[in-house]
Amino acid sequence: MNFAETTNDLAGGRLTIDLDALGANWRLLASKAPAAVCAGVVKGDGYGIGLERAAETLQAAGCTTFFVALPDEGLRARAVAPQATIYLLGGLFEENGPALAAAGIRPVLGSMEEIGEWEAFCRASGNAVPCGIHVDTGMNRLGLTLNEARALAGDPARVEAMGARLLISHLACADAPGHDLTAQQIARFSEIRALFPGLKASLANSAGVLGQPGAHFDLLRPGIALYGGEAISGIDNPMRPVVTLEARIIQIRNGNPGETVGYGATETLKRPSRIAVVAIGYADGYHRRAGSTDAAPGARVHLGGFDAPLVGRVSMDLIAIDVTGIPETVAHRGAWVEMFGPNVPVDEVADRAETIGYELLTGLGRRYRRTYLGGGA
Ligand SMILES: *Cc1c(COP(=O)(O)O)cnc(C)c1O
Repeated sequence: MNFAETTNDLAGGRLTIDLDALGANWRLLASKAPAAVCAGVVKGDGYGIGLERAAETLQAAGCTTFFVALPDEGLRARAVAPQATIYLLGGLFEENGPALAAAGIRPVLGSMEEIGEWEAFCRASGNAVPCGIHVDTGMNRLGLTLNEARALAGDPARVEAMGARLLISHLACADAPGHDLTAQQIARFSEIRALFPGLKASLANSAGVLGQPGAHFDLLRPGIALYGGEAISGIDNPMRPVVTLEARIIQIRNGNPGETVGYGATETLKRPSRIAVVAIGYADGYHRRAGSTDAAPGARVHLGGFDAPLVGRVSMDLIAIDVTGIPETVAHRGAWVEMFGPNVPVDEVADRAETIGYELLTGLGRRYRRTYLGGGA
């Protein structure tokens, strides 16, 4: 099935989301650990592509377990995946218990307070309502301490009464191959999971799936790699790009050596130059830090087989690119320019902006015409 969705016909940029690539990426990740179940992380509005579309596509590819960060995301996932298992990574506030239970969303409990509240909720409702338990193995973000987890494991009746089904932990440094902390986290998690023999175990994010076979356990939790982003720095990214962002040239102008381009006059032209002004900027989530100065080049874009560098700062709604030497049949008023996508990896742009692909994808603006490609089962 092919379909297009227009949120605003008069929008500036266009965002093309390749749902077939998303499905193929899930199958590739699942194939890395045939003995494990591969879930899909759809938090952050499905890493910017749209939570519902992401969940529907992953489900069609065979995914039956989803992870979200917020209760509202859980309800959105539930609406398109009525049969799926849905875990809520953000844990529990007591007042959300009934709504989560009613929607069959399993909170991943990350503190003894949350566990106490969920136990009380289970007792009051007369059921062991399914949930997960998060143990911290070295990140100091969410999760029980190792000692709290050991103590809880000593009371199996309590673990059963609270409906615990899954034990998770999260890797802090799996994107940096060979990091000592990863080995320590795997060892700590192995010790704790052995104390909870009735629970499934889940440790691997995308980088763990691709680079840490020892972290696979029972359930994989990839996010960024599904959406084509780079999970491990310094190796070729094996995933298919999912998101392409394009914008149009609205004017071409000539500049002379010694003239500057854009706010702050941060870049000086060194030769007679053709400058194309493109209708996209930081209000679209294209980071201001991706701009260029005389001291440091910025990101590049791609058009009709040619690369073109950014010149000067990124403005709110505009950027300038240097199209000197690119044929006028390619670089002309109205031409579409790829900001990132198959020819310009999102992680390369993110790198120039001193951030990561995750932030670019989840921070994409709302001013585009969105088109979804593929998505059939
Ligand atoms: C976001 C998140 C993931 C997915 O991480 P990626 O690096 O995007 O694969 C997995 N587990 C937890 C706990 C997360 O917060």
